[in-house]
Parts: sequence; C-alpha cells; structure tokens
Amino acid sequence: MKDTGNSSERLLQLLKEHFGFTAFRHNQQAIIETILSGKDSMVLMPTGGGKSVCYQIPALALEGLTVVVSPLIALMKDQVDALHQNGIEAAYLNSTLSNYEQQDILDRLPLKNKPALKSQLKLLYISPERLLGERNFLNHLKEKVQVALFAIDEAHCISDWGHDFRPEYLMLGNLKQQFPETPIIALTATADTNTRNDIIKKLQLTHYATFENSFNRPNISYTIKPRKNHFDHLCQYLKERRNEAGIIYCLSRNSTETLAEKLREQGFDAIAYHAGLEKQVREERQDLFLKDEVKIIVATIAFGMGINKSNVRYVIHIDMPKNLEGYYQETGRAGRDGLASEALLYYTGADVIKLTNMVQVEGNEEQSRLMLKKLKQMAEFCELHTCRRKYLLNYFSEYTGNYCGNCDVCLSDQVKSDMTIAGQKILSAVSRLEERFGLNYVIDFLRGSDAIKGMHRGLKTYGAGKEYSKDQWRSFMKEMIQLGYLKQTDGQYPILQLTEESKPVLKGEAVLMLTVLTKAPETKTKPVAT
Ligand code: ADP
Ligand code: ZN
Repeated sequence: MKDTGNSSERLLQLLKEHFGFTAFRHNQQAIIETILSGKDSMVLMPTGGGKSVCYQIPALALEGLTVVVSPLIALMKDQVDALHQNGIEAAYLNSTLSNYEQQDILDRLPLKNKPALKSQLKLLYISPERLLGERNFLNHLKEKVQVALFAIDEAHCISDWGHDFRPEYLMLGNLKQQFPETPIIALTATADTNTRNDIIKKLQLTHYATFENSFNRPNISYTIKPRKNHFDHLCQYLKERRNEAGIIYCLSRNSTETLAEKLREQGFDAIAYHAGLEKQVREERQDLFLKDEVKIIVATIAFGMGINKSNVRYVIHIDMPKNLEGYYQETGRAGRDGLASEALLYYTGADVIKLTNMVQVEGNEEQSRLMLKKLKQMAEFCELHTCRRKYLLNYFSEYTGNYCGNCDVCLSDQVKSDMTIAGQKILSAVSRLEERFGLNYVIDFLRGSDAIKGMHRGLKTYGAGKEYSKDQWRSFMKEMIQLGYLKQTDGQYPILQLTEESKPVLKGEAVLMLTVLTKAPETKTKPVAT
C-alpha cells in the first residue's frame, strides 16, 4: 500500500483545498484521525455541527471508496452536487436513477487490484434498501470493490429506541462481519443514552471511539406560550421582528396554507411550504426564503432538512412536535450564525391528546410505548417550572446547572414561595398511600374526593388539602418531580414515589420553594399514558 502520509498538515490542506475552510471544528480532526487509524467511531453531533466533513476528508485521504449510507434519498442529490462543486468524485445510487445511469456509476467504482482511474468515485451515497436489497450490491462491493470506509448517516434509524426507527437499517448489522477490516463511522444528531448504546450494539462495533459534542445552543432562547388567542400574540411577535427571517412550523399541510394566508392578510411576507406542493413550487419557495426575498416560511417539518440558512432568527412551533428530538432539530435551524435567536412554541394540552393517537405504531406495542414516553417528555418540557435548557440537555444526557439565563423560565420573574407545608402534605399523602398511586389519585386524596377508595378515607392526610385547586396541586407536584423531591415511574400507569430528597422536607429540615401560580394554568393537560 502506498504511503498516503496523512499528517495533520495534510488533512488541513485537504480541508482548505476541497472545502475552503481554514480550520477543523470541534472534534472533526480527532474523528478523522480515528478513522484513518482503522478504528470505528460513533459520532454524536448536533445538526449543523459539521458531520459530513468527518467522513468526506477520510474519503479523500484513503484509497478506495467511501460508502455513505443515508435514508434521506431526497438529500443525496444535493450532497453529491455540493461535492462536485468542490471537485470531488461522488455519486449516489437509489431508485430514482435509470439503469443506464446506475451502470455508469458501477463502472466508476474503484476495483480491487486494479490501477486507479481518474474518474473513479471517492464517495458513493446509497440508501440501505439499495445496498442490501435484492440486487445484493453489498456482495458486489465485497468481491470486487476496494471499500475504504462505511459512513452510516442518521445512525439512530437502526435503533428502535430512537425516534425514527427504520427496519431496513437493521440489515446494516452484519456489515462488520462481512467487512471486518473496513472502518465504520456511525453519525447521528439525536441520540439519548439508550439509543447510542443500541447503535453500537446493532452495528456490532467493538474497537471504536465515541465522540460527543455539546448539544447546547447557547444563542437560542427557549420560550413556551399557551396556545390561546395565539394569533394576536403571533402577529405582535412578527411585527417586532419584521426584518428578520423565521420559520413557523405547523403540523398539517392545510394549516401551513391557512396560516400563511392569514399572515399575508395582516401584511406579513409569508409563504407556505409542504411536501404536497409540486417539486418546482417547493424549490422556488425555498429559494425565495434562502435568498431573503421572503422573510417568513410557514411549513410542515418537510422543510428544513439539509437546508443551510445561517440567519434564521426565530423558529416558531404552532403545534407541539411529537418528541424532543424533533423539537431540538427544528429549533436548531435558528441561529446557525451564532447570533441571538429564538425558539417559541405555543402549547396546549389538546395537542398532547391529539398526538397520543398519532404516535402509536400499529401492531408494535413496544414501539408505541416508547413513542408515548417521548411525547410525555415533550409535554413535560412545555410545562416546566425549571430551566428548559437544562431539561433539554439532560434529555440528551448532558448535565448542566439549574439556570441558563436564556429561557423563559430563567428569565421570568416568577415568584417562588416557601411551600414546605403543601410539599409535606403531598409527600405524606404519597407515603400513606404506600407509594402505589399516580398523580391524579394523590390529588383526589388530598382534596378529599369521593373517588377515593373507602380503605383510604380513614388515612390521616385524606382531605387535608382542600385549600388548593387540582391544577395547583398538579403544578406543585410536577415541579417537585422536576426538582427531584418526588419521582414518577415510567410505564403505562406512572406512580409517585419518594426520593432521598423527600425526607428532609417531610421532617421539616428543608425549606421547599415552589412556584405559586396566581391563577389556574391556562392549559389543562390530561396525563398521556394513563
Ligand atoms: P451536519 O451534517 O452535522 O448537520 P454539515 O456537515 O452539513 O452538518 O455542516 C454544517 C455546516 O457547517 C455546513 O455549511 C458546512 O459546510 C459547515 N462546516 C463544516 N465543517 C466546517 C469547518 N471546519 N469550518 C467551517 N465550516 C464548516
Ligand atoms: Zn433556563
């Protein structure tokens, strides 16, 4: 084998020459060096972090072909076009190509023990179906082609712990057996701990390094508002940001059209975007937005993938996303230039109920349960009385302090009061009910409701909490859960339990500060999974 001499100067030179960047970002260089050393790697980097370079530079530095597996057929063409513009030989293989076009690509694959040709491909983007499907392209690769690297993009699709499980990804599980000598790099922007461990297991990575980048986007502020008379609020909000570009996400195609129309009637420069529009119309509209000729795009989540507009100043969700992965990804399209930007979501409990039906996967109970859990966490995020960034980052297994100073909760002048007595009542009720009941039952118990079983009516705290409304009790309990004074179990019927933190409060050794709502919360939520 020829000495490729991949020193760090050489890597930097490749970065400059082909991509025009002056320095590596984050841990790009370490990732690239890991690949070049022959090891596998698992890369977690938020959207926009610069994942592509991590395998594109090795593709240039190594002899042979880098196979990039991606589920996003619609984006392959753009990625390949961008590589061509950088003078890199790349192609994609998927069902949209004619046989003739496919043959041309096959003719340009670098073959084992054959001299390299000038027009030979360095990168091949391929869908998992095409790689492992009936024509058995993988066998062809194994027998004839010199494969340098496998890059598995959107690697969370292999895990049914993830939010976007795709069964066809499972077949990638035996890549390692078939190509024991070829390094694999798995990349994802969204993986909680379970998902990331599952990716490693399913891809059978043994000799690997993990790379994580912080998911924090300090320049984005997070705000939740109740979805009630929200159109007036929205108009005011947009008025104050007339010269800024922003994305407004809606759940349905119809509502993007209706809202864009209503905004235009109010004199705003807004267009709708969704997958139901003709391709040409979509491209035109996307272009108008990218070129700043239209300021507001009202879109379904079909908009944004692979779009790189750096000066999006705000992302608004009219409807709640199904999970925090989606929320994070969508809000992450704001502020790529690093300047202060905003994420605003209009929340209503009604969305939780509507989505409860939508997220269930027919015939897959396990998967449905997981999707419901993620939905519940999304709703919990909206109902927080504690720092939203902390919750979001903890969700992605990153731990931070209690105060970010850049979310609505941290910035609010919400008053916290000494609520030790109310807290003691809650903890005592949970304890007397032997930590076997859920939130609603405990509230009914405190308020002395008739719904309580006869055997519990004689207990001491029964009816001891008539001074607060159901909503107030709910809000106290949720906040106590967020603060760790109470624990709510997972599963279909979550129950409340005490924690280590409960004891000092119960014994009167600690003061419990909670947010006191001066009026009932504007959004009532039904628990999702009960
Ligand atoms: P991801 O796949 O993680 O969402 P991309 O690979 O598309 O991110 O990169 C996001 C943006 O950052 C792209 O515009 C890319 O050109 C740019 N980028 C990547 N690496 C660097 C770098 N080292 N220096 C400057 N810009 C970079
Ligand atoms: Zn905060």
